Amino acid sequence: MNIDSITNGIVIDHIKAGKGMEIYKFLGLDAYECSVALIKNVPSKKMGKKDIIKIDSLLDIDLNALGYIDPNITINVIKNEVRTEKYHPELPERITNIIKCKNPRCITTTEQELPHIFKLTDKNGPVYRCLYCETKAQ
Ligand SMILES: [Zn+2]
Repeated sequence: MNIDSITNGIVIDHIKAGKGMEIYKFLGLDAYECSVALIKNVPSKKMGKKDIIKIDSLLDIDLNALGYIDPNITINVIKNEVRTEKYHPELPERITNIIKCKNPRCITTTEQELPHIFKLTDKNGPVYRCLYCETKAQ
């Protein structure tokens, strides 16, 4: 794919340099058939250096979950070579199986098959707490 022009796809911009691979894995992009470009250490006026991910397809994936990793990234949606949407991911209300509860008495420690679910309890922190024992995520 020509990485400068995308006809229909998604560009994830302003990723903190070095975080691109984490986001690539987080979104499970290796599982898709479409072209994906991870561009590292792009010079940026605002950030010094940044990573960019270009996806040559309008994937139906929940990009707001990226808000947990980095709410400052920019998501651009491109349709027919025109940018139709540009937004920052919102903090997800719930995150599942991304972080683990550190409380040794939490039910997720003994019940291995339980999903690790954290709920957003304060948007300004942001603070996430374990759904089961309310321990704060680090
Ligand atoms: Zn817990």
